[in-house]
Amino acid sequence: MSLPAGSTIGIIGGGQLGRMLAMAGARLGYRTVVLEPQADCPAAQVANRQITAAYDDPAALAELAAVSAVVTYEFENVPVAAADALAARVPVYPPARALDVAQDRVNEKTFLNTIGIATAEFRSVDNDDELTITLKTFGGSGILKTRRMGYDGKGQRVFRNMKTGGFAGTCEAMGNVPLILESLVPFEREISVIAARGQDGTVAAYDPAENIHRNGILHTSTLPAAIRPETADAARAAAAKIVSALDYVGVIGVEFFVLADGSLLANEIAPRVHNSGHWTEAACAISQFEQHIRAVAGLPLGDPKRHSDCVMENLIGDDVLRVPALLAEPDLMLHLYGKSQARPGRKMGHFTRINRRA
Ligand code: AMP
Repeated sequence: MSLPAGSTIGIIGGGQLGRMLAMAGARLGYRTVVLEPQADCPAAQVANRQITAAYDDPAALAELAAVSAVVTYEFENVPVAAADALAARVPVYPPARALDVAQDRVNEKTFLNTIGIATAEFRSVDNDDELTITLKTFGGSGILKTRRMGYDGKGQRVFRNMKTGGFAGTCEAMGNVPLILESLVPFEREISVIAARGQDGTVAAYDPAENIHRNGILHTSTLPAAIRPETADAARAAAAKIVSALDYVGVIGVEFFVLADGSLLANEIAPRVHNSGHWTEAACAISQFEQHIRAVAGLPLGDPKRHSDCVMENLIGDDVLRVPALLAEPDLMLHLYGKSQARPGRKMGHFTRINRRA
């Protein structure tokens, strides 16, 4: 059933993704309420209301459920128990199962392999001895990551061609938390697909973006990606398989490594709108944010067609000093997140350069 205009959509998380969801919601005639502990967060600046409390605060969750016709979220570390508690009172999209799968890298890769999507080889690692043995199995190279709560390359350590042991203290240095060792993928490029599934089961996938990271943070997303059409089709098909297997509603981001032969290994799924999909607001009639709102509100999905080639670039920390020059450029869409302090590594905004076609 589609939500009538004037209905309220609850959003858990008050960052820039919540902000852009609230803006898209407003454009479709909806009201938004944001649950976020930090006052005056980017999303609350443009939403109708903020509930200022922790994401797992029972009274705040009860209030969010009471005022919302549907609840969604802008980050994947929403406590599953909170999503379940909400889901008992109000529809929550994407489903809590997607959080459960995405919050733990071992669960995530196991799920992907189970539905026939290839990933890097991986093993869970809980101590230095297991690390030594697994690294040997992987030929001395691998990337060690925390199973949970990792983002933007944080909590990761790369090993290349290690001949012997000597890993004592590594797990402690990683915080004595459950870890995963992945084989080091010799990828040629990294791409991501932003896909959506509606309440009627329809799936719409945008063209894959080619992503460049700097210091573990997304730097640029370029459309089109320099990949063969079969690789693009395979990436879209994998994303469609994932959303169908999860009985998903909403937008999802799926990151892949592209190997030299054009084959794909899935790296990560993000059960939310995704930084590598920001280009859609400038190069598609229907942005990923509108697509997500359409899905959770039970509206028909929009056409994910891209009308222009483009490059999206993040503004990190002091990059915001470039804003005056960027404002002077033609065919450039700027988006700032309303954050007053530019700390190193902080995402302050992004811009998309549209390549004008002759
Ligand atoms: P992640 O936090 O999993 O998205 O990893 C951050 C970045 O590290 C990725 O975008 C890749 O550039 C790199 N990376 C992650 N996993 C692997 C892997 N198994 N092999 C090679 N590079 C990787």
